[in-house]
Amino acid sequence: MALTKEAFLALVALQLKDNVLDAIQKEIDAVPPRIAALRADLENEKRHMNEAKARILELEKKKKTKELDVAAKEEAARKHSTQLNDLKSNEAYKTMQAEIEAEKAAAGDIETEILQLMEDLDKAKSEEKAATVEFKKTEEFSKTDLAKLEAELSHAKGRFETEKVGRDAAAAAVAPSEMKVYNHIRGRGKPDAVVPVVAGHCGACQINLTPGLILEISKLKSLVTCESCQRILYKPELLVPTASVQ
Ligand SMILES: [Zn+2]
Repeated sequence: MALTKEAFLALVALQLKDNVLDAIQKEIDAVPPRIAALRADLENEKRHMNEAKARILELEKKKKTKELDVAAKEEAARKHSTQLNDLKSNEAYKTMQAEIEAEKAAAGDIETEILQLMEDLDKAKSEEKAATVEFKKTEEFSKTDLAKLEAELSHAKGRFETEKVGRDAAAAAVAPSEMKVYNHIRGRGKPDAVVPVVAGHCGACQINLTPGLILEISKLKSLVTCESCQRILYKPELLVPTASVQ
């Protein structure tokens, strides 16, 4: 199929528009991972805070149990003390007395454990306080950052839609057969489907082009593709629009 300079210009114009769209799409695609990272940060701070709260509850529960243990030991010692005078034999008296001493000692040991728990509780409470402050701070920051990112996203989407109108108009000026080649190259991960010849080389892969190939490109009769990278080649100096030509 014969190619005109105008048809080639249309193809180059379409590529420019497509590249703009690609760049905007890249911006759009970059936003969701940033939003996800912010949310993950916040979740992490929240988890720290909740862990600290759970630690306090756990320590308080342990302390409560220990306090009941102390009360039980003290009650046993008290009850046994009242029974001492009822005991008839010296042997039984001594055994009971030893038992009372053991109960008092056990109560004392548990009291020491309670003191340690209270220290741990103080530490846990200050950790919980710090974690809560950190969470609130992160929550506040992420609100602002999320709003910024949402605005960025919606702005980029708006720009995309606007640019898409121009792109579709440029695409309408390209013949279906050329469009097929162009789309095929882009579809293979080469967004720069149309590349200029630069000093006898392919503008993309830099391979040295044969004089015969360059001659074919100069004729502007059909699409000529690079033998190495398969991109469409053109000579920019031949595509200067001629405004006077009707
Ligand atoms: Zn090439």
